[in-house]
Parts: sequence; C-alpha cells; structure tokens
Amino acid sequence: MAESKGAMIYGEVAQGKLSSNTAELLGCGRKLANDLGQELSAVLVGSNISGIVQEAITFGADKVYVIDDPLLKDYQTDSYVSVMEKVAKQVMPQFLLLGHTSTGRDLAPRLAFRLGTAASMDCVELAIDPESKLLLQTKPVYGGNALATFTCKSFPQIATVRPKAMSPLEPHISRKGEFITIEAGLDPSAVRTKVLEKVEAEGIRLEDVDVVIAGGRGIGSPEGFKQLEELAKILKGAVGATRPPCDNEWVPAGAQIGLTGKIVAPNLYIGVALSGSMQHISGCSGSKIIVAINKDPDANIFREAHFGVVGDWKKVLPAFNGKVNELLSG
Ligand SMILES: Cc1cc2nc3c(=O)[nH]c(=O)nc-3n(C[C@H](O)[C@H](O)[C@H](O)COP(=O)(O)OP(=O)(O)OC[C@H]3O[C@@H](n4cnc5c(N)ncnc54)[C@H](O)[C@@H]3O)c2cc1C
Repeated sequence: MAESKGAMIYGEVAQGKLSSNTAELLGCGRKLANDLGQELSAVLVGSNISGIVQEAITFGADKVYVIDDPLLKDYQTDSYVSVMEKVAKQVMPQFLLLGHTSTGRDLAPRLAFRLGTAASMDCVELAIDPESKLLLQTKPVYGGNALATFTCKSFPQIATVRPKAMSPLEPHISRKGEFITIEAGLDPSAVRTKVLEKVEAEGIRLEDVDVVIAGGRGIGSPEGFKQLEELAKILKGAVGATRPPCDNEWVPAGAQIGLTGKIVAPNLYIGVALSGSMQHISGCSGSKIIVAINKDPDANIFREAHFGVVGDWKKVLPAFNGKVNELLSG
C-alpha cells in the first residue's frame, strides 16, 4: 500500500451512542494524526447509526465512514471483517486503531491477515517515530513485567488499544467534518450466525465507577468481601478483586482487575489485602489516587500507593468505614 495516508479508528457503538473507548481512540488518533500532519477518519459499522456521526466528529474525527446495513445490526465476525476489509482497501489509511475490547480482539488479527499486515494487540502507548513516521506501538510483555515497543512496515499498521490507556478530547459541538457512506454489499447468505438474545451483565460496571474497592487473597472469604461491599456502597463505588479471590469463587470472575481482567482508572482505588503484583497493577495503575491497606509494610502495593495503612484489614476497615460515614453525614 504505497499510497497509504491518514489515520483511522474503528468506532464501537454501545446503546445507540459511541462507546467511551471510541472517544479515547479518537483522542489518541487525533494527536497522532496531528503529529503526522494528516487527517483522522473514523469508521462506524452497524444498523441505524447515522445519528452518531456528529458525535465522532465532535470527539476529533475529520471524516466518518459509515456502513449502515440491517445485516450489521449485531457484531458478527464474518460480516464485520468483510466490510472493514472493504473500507481499509478503499481508504488505505497509514494506521488503524481499534479498542482492545472483545470486538477489537476478534476483528484486528483477522483484518490484519486479510490486508497482509500485522496487528499489535493491547497497546498502552502510541506515538509517531519522528524519523520513519511509523507508529510506535508499546504494549506490556512477559506477563506485564516489561513494556516493548514495536513497529510494523506493512500498511495499514494495526493496533488495538487498551481501554482507559488513552484520554478522550473535550468534545467540541461546533467541530465540522465529512460524512461518507460506504455500501456494505453483503450477501445475506454470507451472514452465517444470528444473535438470538442479548443479556446485559447485572450490577455496576467496574470500568465506569469513580471509586473501586479491590480485595486480594488476604480478604480470605466471600464474607470478607461483604465488608468491602459496605464501603463501596458508602462511596457509591464497586468492588473488584485480584485473581485469587476470583479463582476461589469468593467473587464473580468479572470482578478481576489486571492483565487478564478488567482495566480500571477510577478517581479513587482502595486496594485491601492485596500485594500489588505487576499483573494486578497493570489493570489499575491509571487510577488517580491509590490507597493501600496491607499488614506487610514491604508489600509492593505501597510502592504504587499515594496513601497507605499498614495493618490488619479486619481492624482497619471498620474504623475506615466509620470515619467515611461520619464525614459524609457531617
Ligand atoms: C499470566 C498471568 C496473568 C495474571 N493476571 C492477573 C490479573 O489479571 N489480576 C490479578 O490480580 N492477578 C493476576 N495474576 C496473578 C498475580 O501474579 C498474583 O498472583 C495476584 O495478583 C496476587 O493476588 P493478591 O495480591 O491478592 O495475593 P497475594 O500476592 O498472596 O497477596 C496477599 C496480600 O494480602 C496481605 N494480607 C494478608 N492478610 C492480610 C490482613 N489480614 N490484613 C491486611 N493485609 C493482609 C498480604 O500481606 C499480602 O500482601 C496473573 C498471573 C499470571 C501468571
């Protein structure tokens, strides 16, 4: 693709709006496109999605390619790969960013194969190399113990970006952009799977709350986690966990934060009776304030924390909950 030009992001639609992760991709893509001195485009794929085009422009896109077709109502690998291949071949962007979400994880490698290029998965930093103008794609390696930076000499350079690793721009309602429709051109018989039902996960999404109370192995039981829930309730937050409590079924698997769990970046993260392993920290290091409660003064979590209490959580937490309650009611 000698003529490759411009930056592109793949936008995801959630409940009729751009997903928060798409706004992050647009923020990051905008900066990279500016560094290249080129345009940023967004691709939106789905059914009845023309209403959100302006939203993508508001968050930084110069152009929005829309593939709107009833056959694309739900994400489906075959049809989405096929339309994305069509868009990428038509537009020939220099690079394409997708979220490291279940969709992005499915789509990016397949698309890279179809386009004869490669995909870097789960990038946490992206930059333009000043000399080669290639995309510098940085991602955790060796179980999160190191970061490695990759470049790809085939185009488009494809990367998935870890949610919360990038920040969205302030939306500008007055921003202007172009809207281009591309026909899906799908043969209905090529759509081989059908979504029969969607079931929303119950409860608060860890990724969306301002306060996360995470418990570790030291909590010791499901009953212990009930005390963390009390604090979460007081602070209008949600309870997360390290891997051992999930493996032991003290909490649901969806509560796991870390390399192989969720990525959170709340305003306040309170880590209780967890050691602060690299694999866990990689999922919460973007938190604005980290507070740690651990009985071991040498626990790694104290190296990451802004505030810490050395002590047995069973003694510290009730006093902590009481004080927070007092402050909030006073
Ligand atoms: C490929 C791979 C992927 C992984 N992915 C993840 C991941 O996504 N998320 C994740 O969390 N882990 C992950 N892990 C596991 C990770 O390596 C650690 O084993 C795990 O994070 C440790 O959890 P922990 O801190 O709860 O337990 P521990 O390391 O055992 O720490 C328990 C802590 O509790 C403290 N403690 C005990 N009792 C008390 C008490 N009464 N009061 C106060 N403090 C107390 C102890 O001092 C200790 O620091 C992964 C591992 C691998 C190999």
